[in-house]
Amino acid sequence: MSSYRELLRRLRDEIDEVSVAKAAGTADQPLYLDVREQDEWVEGHIPGALHVPRGNLESRVEQLVPDHERPIVVYCAGGNRSVFAARTLEELGYERVASLSGGFTDWKRNGFPVQLPRSLDPERRARYSRHLLIPEVGEEGQLKLLDARVLLVGAGGLGSPASLYLAAAGVGRLGIVDEDVVDASNLQRQVLHTTESLGRSKVDSATATLQALNPDVEVVGYQERLTSENVDRILADGWDVIVDGADNFPTRYLVNDASVWHEIPVVHGSIFRFEGQVTVFDPRRAADGDGNGSGERTGPCYRCLFPTPPPPELAPSCAEGGVLGVLPGIIGSLQANEALKLVLGVGDPLVGRLLLFDALQPGFTEVAVRRDPACPVCGDEPTISEYIDYVEFCSRGAHAPMP
Ligand SMILES: [Zn+2]
Repeated sequence: MSSYRELLRRLRDEIDEVSVAKAAGTADQPLYLDVREQDEWVEGHIPGALHVPRGNLESRVEQLVPDHERPIVVYCAGGNRSVFAARTLEELGYERVASLSGGFTDWKRNGFPVQLPRSLDPERRARYSRHLLIPEVGEEGQLKLLDARVLLVGAGGLGSPASLYLAAAGVGRLGIVDEDVVDASNLQRQVLHTTESLGRSKVDSATATLQALNPDVEVVGYQERLTSENVDRILADGWDVIVDGADNFPTRYLVNDASVWHEIPVVHGSIFRFEGQVTVFDPRRAADGDGNGSGERTGPCYRCLFPTPPPPELAPSCAEGGVLGVLPGIIGSLQANEALKLVLGVGDPLVGRLLLFDALQPGFTEVAVRRDPACPVCGDEPTISEYIDYVEFCSRGAHAPMP
């Protein structure tokens, strides 16, 4: 049996230690790994450091630092806990590990730069506590959500549940494009709006509802119909994700073409009677080795599936375009789910996968959808390079049968 002091002394002989002056002076910057507790981390840390509390080190570090040859300087407050952490890292196969002698205390005392991380105030900690309890979200994820910007095309059936859940989740900025006013026939499913908002613009009604739900959310309203004239202006306001709840083909094609050219992922949803469908069109190129974004596109766009709008006689007529009231609640919530995943960078987005829902069964079916190299917009030799304003032949017919 050895005492703590003996064990510490023995480990000190076995692992590498580096002084703050030497670590900070290294031309080839190592990865600083902070193994202190959360309450110490929020007081300040070495800029660019990775935070893995000592208690989670074994279970989390390999996922966060897959490269076992990367130079790592592990630190704590005074340089003792990091000795044990360094030994653990060596046992996990990390080859170039050193413990920062004197720890963060010495680092600060010597005047090296310190980064004060942002953190949630007590009010937000309470509001988002059920997010903070999920390791995949946590405080860092919640800060990402508060920084996120999501554009909703349409404040109707799909946009209602999607925007309500995104606002409740604390997505910091929500854009809403809709030119309509609230009509009595909307209230059977468009839960953003109430009987009191009849005759009011949907953008105003949605803004009031969402800000009452969560004052952290800034709502940017565009009370206009999306057209070739305004789409670039609206997208230039900087959106991380577009949630497409459009109920007509002209808007759907505009959103698609603009999202490919602006490289913004689109969470697509549509509904008809008892059927709904959701997928993610992500026109961003996969990162390649150079990180210059010249890699392959990862998934299809809407035009890969439907190069042009269907002829009017094949689209559902306006009179036939009914929908069960709860269906947009299900599909719009799935769209919010995909948008939150994209912002947080967790899970597998529905890229290249079309999720179909049948309310009567009820049940989900998944169909693989592929990028078409001959696609007129995202293909290898695009034939469409300017926005097209298609003539609207039915305002309620954007749910297309899938191949
Ligand atoms: Zn395409």
